[in-house]
Amino acid sequence: MLVQSSQDRQKGRGPAQGRTVHTFQMIHRGSCHCGRVAFEVQGEPTQAMACNCSICSRKGSLLWFVRRDNLRLLTPEANASTYMFNKHVIRHRFCPTCGIHPYGEGADPSGKPMAAINLRCLENFDCKAIPVKEFDGRSL
Ligand SMILES: [Zn+2]
Repeated sequence: MLVQSSQDRQKGRGPAQGRTVHTFQMIHRGSCHCGRVAFEVQGEPTQAMACNCSICSRKGSLLWFVRRDNLRLLTPEANASTYMFNKHVIRHRFCPTCGIHPYGEGADPSGKPMAAINLRCLENFDCKAIPVKEFDGRSL
């Protein structure tokens, strides 16, 4: 309650006297192996998903789901090839040069565009530092 009112008072002073509000957002950089596909992702993964479906088990990827808005490509979108199978709901994006699959694109149940980031493609990210949740994609 007290915190709330002091925030309101600060807001009322206006931008001239008020402090600049910095929103700290973690940015992770990732890429395929050769660098033809590179990107930045906003946010901080708190858990990874390991899926046992036919493609994830072959890739061995650990996935982190973010809103598609939080994924910013640093290389032209056309640099990544697209693989689709089954119901074609997920666009598996991969590098045609080195063969690495850094991310996929799809939508959540409400239709919001989402991206599945392969955590193993992030720079300087320790996958062992976050819990891995098993997902039974094979049964879907
Ligand atoms: Zn590559």
